[in-house]
Amino acid sequence: MPKKIIAGNWKQNGNLKSSVTLTKGTISALARMKCKHEVIIFPPSVYLIPIQKLVSKKIKLGSQNVSAYDDGAFTGEISASMLKDLKVNYCLVGHSERRHIINETERALSGKVTRLFENNIRIIYCIGETLEEYKGRKTKTILRNQINSLIKQNKGNLKKHPKNLTLAYEPVWAIGTGLVPSMSELSDIFSFIRSTLNKVDSCYSSIKILYGGSVTPDNAAELMKTNHMDGLLVGGASLISKKFIDICSTI
Ligand code: PEP
Repeated sequence: MPKKIIAGNWKQNGNLKSSVTLTKGTISALARMKCKHEVIIFPPSVYLIPIQKLVSKKIKLGSQNVSAYDDGAFTGEISASMLKDLKVNYCLVGHSERRHIINETERALSGKVTRLFENNIRIIYCIGETLEEYKGRKTKTILRNQINSLIKQNKGNLKKHPKNLTLAYEPVWAIGTGLVPSMSELSDIFSFIRSTLNKVDSCYSSIKILYGGSVTPDNAAELMKTNHMDGLLVGGASLISKKFIDICSTI
């Protein structure tokens, strides 16, 4: 069975002590259960260095953000080459909180993707519609536009390294709300995303697609029955070691 991906996005939560405890607890539980899947944690940037010292083959390290620019006069930013220095394996781009709260534009997202490709850091690129767009039945239009914009601006890199990109479908209205799409909605959307990628180029068939939005130990197994779903991006539930491990063990 191909490896599934289970990613935990800690967002702006915790402190040094709790982050170290959470990492250690997650790693030892994964070792006990002989987890064969790709498990990635995304701690806050300031904790990447102490956590990098703890990670083993059992777990991959991800950054929640990266600068759209190479090194230079960009106060407060962290470049892809700096992440590479820390042996960061993955980076999130396009998370709805960065699109809608920080107001990141498609152009900024494209710069981030390019820098990550240049530094050989794998990208988890989030796409998804808002509640208003969902109610207006615009989900597929939004997803098509987001996918096409990503591909158009990174065609060369993507063709060379399609495996460096993973998509995460995260309906904005499902993030942190306890709401999840129905199984038939998810099946329709995942088939749509897969066929949109295939229509652009058959070399994109290797791109994995995750689901994110109110994933819990109670719904993870059911969600993973969706065709074309290659894993889960978990927010709130990844902050509690037992919940995150329970999600990993149900897959
Ligand atoms: C997320 O922020 O990526 C997320 C999926 O959050 P939650 O699981 O808390 O809905």
